[in-house]
Amino acid sequence: MDLNVIAQTRCEKLLHLAKQMLSEDEVLSKRYVSLARKIAMRHRFSLRSKRFCKSCNTIFIAGRTVKVRVSPSQQRVLYTCLSCKRSASFPFVKEKLIRKAKCVKRS
Ligand SMILES: [Zn+2]
Repeated sequence: MDLNVIAQTRCEKLLHLAKQMLSEDEVLSKRYVSLARKIAMRHRFSLRSKRFCKSCNTIFIAGRTVKVRVSPSQQRVLYTCLSCKRSASFPFVKEKLIRKAKCVKRS
C-alpha cells in the first residue's frame, strides 16, 4: 500500500475521532486535529480547510463549533469559529457553476 494512501486514511480516522470526542474531551479532540494536520503536512497533501479551525484546531460542526453564514453580495460562505472567533471565507462559485450545469441539463 502506498504511504500517501495510509497517511490519508489515518488523517480521515483522526478527524472522525476528533468529531466523536468533541463532546467528551475538547482538548483530546483538538490534539487529534493537530496530529492529522501534522501527518498531512509531512506527506504534502491538503486536508480540506473547511473541516477545522486553522488557529485553534477545533473541528467544525455547523451550529455547535462554527457559525456558517452566506454572503450573497460577496459570493462567499463565512465560517466563524465559536471558540477563538477567527473567521474565514470561501467562495461559492463552484457550487453556482454546478447548479447552472444541472439547470442546463434539465432544459
Ligand atoms: Zn478557532
